[in-house]
Amino acid sequence: MLRRLPAKSEPMENVFARLEEYTKDDIKVKGGRLFTYLYDSGLEELARINDIYVKFLNRNAMDYHAFPSTLRLENEVVAMIGSLLNGDEKVTGNFTTGGTESILIAVKAARDQFLEKRGSGAPTPEIVIPVTAHPAFRKAAEYLRMKPVLIPVSSQSYLVEPETIRNAISDKTAIVISSAPNFPYGGIDPIEKIAEIASENKVWLHVDACVGGLILPFLDKIGVPVKKWDFSVPGVSSISVDLHKYGYTPKGSSVILYRNKDLRKYQLYVNADWPGYPMSNIGVQSTKSSAPLAASWAVLNYLGEEGYLNLARRTVSAKEQIVKGITSLGYRIVGEAETTIFAFTSDSIDIFEVGAKLKEKGWFLQVQPGSSEMGMPPSLHLNSSPVHDKVAPDFIEDLSEITESLKSRHPRTLDQIMKEVGAGNGKIDGPKLIEVLTSEDSPLNKNKNLLYELIRYLPSEIVEKAFLEMVNNDFSSSVE
Ligand SMILES: *Cc1c(COP(=O)(O)O)cnc(C)c1O
Repeated sequence: MLRRLPAKSEPMENVFARLEEYTKDDIKVKGGRLFTYLYDSGLEELARINDIYVKFLNRNAMDYHAFPSTLRLENEVVAMIGSLLNGDEKVTGNFTTGGTESILIAVKAARDQFLEKRGSGAPTPEIVIPVTAHPAFRKAAEYLRMKPVLIPVSSQSYLVEPETIRNAISDKTAIVISSAPNFPYGGIDPIEKIAEIASENKVWLHVDACVGGLILPFLDKIGVPVKKWDFSVPGVSSISVDLHKYGYTPKGSSVILYRNKDLRKYQLYVNADWPGYPMSNIGVQSTKSSAPLAASWAVLNYLGEEGYLNLARRTVSAKEQIVKGITSLGYRIVGEAETTIFAFTSDSIDIFEVGAKLKEKGWFLQVQPGSSEMGMPPSLHLNSSPVHDKVAPDFIEDLSEITESLKSRHPRTLDQIMKEVGAGNGKIDGPKLIEVLTSEDSPLNKNKNLLYELIRYLPSEIVEKAFLEMVNNDFSSSVE
C-alpha cells in the first residue's frame, strides 16, 4: 500500500508516541554495549550539547554573510583540529557532514588539480587505493569518474607496503590514499615512507584519519607510541578527520584539512551563471543547518585537551582490558591492534557464531567477512570508547561463557554453506546466488551468519549486485 500524507493534522502527542513505537527494534545506544556505530564518551554532561544543537538548528550555514557566526565557528573548529595535527597557519579546510563528504571533496580537489595541470588531452585520472582504505574512496572514484587502482596490503600486518605504492603510481596518478588508521584492523600505514614516494612523484597524498584524527594525537601524549602520520610529515597534502567519532560530537560532523589554500581552492564550487544569486558552496551541500557545527565547536571547547586526554586514557584502558581478555580466551588479534580499534578472530571456533551469541547477550560488534581470496580471516571488529572502560569485565565474562559453549564448533565449509542455502553443490553460480540472496524466504534473510559466511567466499561483484537489489527493494513507498 502506498503511504500518503495524512489528510488531517494529528495531535503532537500522538506523533511523538508513534515515533517512539517506531524505535522499538533499534539497537540500544545507551549503556556501553555497542562497539560500533557510536563513540560514547560516557560523560553525562555532554547531553547539554543537545540544547546547542536545537538552538542552531535553523541557522542556514550556506550563507555565512547572513549568519556570520557560522564562518567564525567553522574557522575556529578547523584551526583547532589543524593545529592539533601539527599544521601551521597555512593549513586550512572546512567543516563537512561526515567522513564521506570530507573524502569526496578532497578527492575532487586532487582530481581537478590534476586535470588543470595536464590541460586538454589529460588522461582519466587514477586514484591509488589500498584494499584496507574505506569504501568512500571507491565511491568517490565512481562519482568523479576516476580510475581506482586497488593495491594489496601486507598479509602479516595488513598495512600498506611503500614499494607497492611506488609500483602503482604512474603518470596518470592524481592522488594516493593512506589510512591513520584503517577501519578494519586499526593499523596505521607507514605514512612517512609513503609521503616520500608521493613527493618524489609530485603526487597528492591524502591521509584518511576519519576514525583516528581525534584519538592518535592524545595517545601519543599518554605514552602510547604512534607512528608519524599528520602534517608534521612533509608530503601529506590533505587529511580527513571525523568529529562524530573520537571527537564525541553529534552525528553529521567532520573536517577536511589541506596543507594550504592553493590545494583547497579546487574543492570549492561557485556559479554565477543563472538568474538567481551568485552561488558559492564549500562542499556537497548548499542549504545546511549550523547545528552540527555549533555543537562541535561547543564539544571541542568544553573538553579541551584535558578532556580529550582523560577520555583517551579510559579508551586505552578499555582496549587493554579487552585485548588481554580475548587473547587469554584463545582469540587472535588480526594485524597489529596499535590503536583503539581492532579486530579479532579464532582459529578453532566459528567467529560469526561468537558474534551472534554476543548479540543475544546485548553486545553489538561489527562482523567482518574478510576475504578468502585476499587471505583475510573473518573477524569481529570493535572500536573501544571511554564508556567501555567500566563494562569491559562484563564483556569478557560473557565472551568467556560463549567461548566455552562453542568449543567444539568449527566453521562450515563452502560446500556445507551452499547446501544449506540451496545454492547447488559448491559451484559459484552468479545469477543463482543473486536469486537466493534476494528472495524473501531465503535462509540468508533469517540467518545473517550464514550470509556473512557465504560472502566470504563470493566474488565481490556478485555480493555487490545482490546487495544493490536488496537495498533497492528495501527502500520502497509501499508500506504496511
Ligand atoms: C567512518 C570512516 C569513514 C567514513 O566516514 P562517515 O562519517 O561514515 O561518512 C572513512 N574512513 C574511515 C577510516 C572511517 O572510519
